[in-house]
Formats: sequence, structure tokens, C-alpha cells
Amino acid sequence: MNKTSKDKIEAGQDILAYCGKCKADTEHVISAMENDKISKVMCRACDAQHNYRKPKSLANDKKAPKTTKTVKSTTSRKAKISPAKKWAELTANHDPNSVQAYSLKQNYENAAVIRHSDYGIGVVTKKIDQTKIEVQFEDGVKLLAINY
Ligand SMILES: [Zn+2]
Repeated sequence: MNKTSKDKIEAGQDILAYCGKCKADTEHVISAMENDKISKVMCRACDAQHNYRKPKSLANDKKAPKTTKTVKSTTSRKAKISPAKKWAELTANHDPNSVQAYSLKQNYENAAVIRHSDYGIGVVTKKIDQTKIEVQFEDGVKLLAINY
């Protein structure tokens, strides 16, 4: 029971999570991050991609705060440019034929237009390194793992 506490979580990293398909806690790779939180993971046992769920083993002994906020706490603070507006600008004149389907296993370059199965069309705004890209989607910026 040794917690190897790497407190920095990154896209492309392995993590223990609950898989609804395997019905068990399995190794997952983080495929998408949103605001420093794990958004999507891919099960290494069955290859299913799904929203991150805490491992069952963890959920039980930690007191889970029952504050299920359904409030969308998105970036509505101050008069910042809304993600949707930024996204609309970025995607305004993209070539629909150049849209690439997003896959964890592929490589994407800066400014590439991609289609994510859950988030929809996005534009690569920053290639962070060989394993991570920052993508502007209509509802905000997410970090996606690539070249896995
Ligand atoms: Zn699985």
C-alpha cells in the first residue's frame, strides 16, 4: 500500500480507474484533460474510451462528497472571450476535408482540425510535446494525449 504520489497528472499518463465494460478497476491511459482534471480515459484492458471514473477501491474508503454540482462552472468570469467564440473564429474557415478523426495513437500538428468522438470539432492550438496537444473545442480547451 505505497502511494506513489505523483501529484502532477498529465494526458498520456497511466492511471487506475473504474471501467464500466470490464466492471473492474483497470489500468487506463488518460486521453483527455480539462482544466487540470481528468476528463477521458482509455481502458488498457478493453480499449474502451470513456469518462474518467474513480477506482471502486478508492471510492469506497474515501468519503465521497455528495455535492453533485450540475452547475456548469465554465469560464463565465469577467468579460473573457468565450470558448465558443474563440472556437468559432478558429474553425470559421477550415477545410472540412482536412478534418482528422482524433485517435490517441496518432500524431497531430499545430493548427490541425480534428474531430473528437465526444467533443466534436476542435483545433490544435498548441502542441505541447510529442505526447500532448492543447485543443480548442466549442466548450473549452482540453488537453489530449497523442502518439500513445
Ligand atoms: Zn475495460
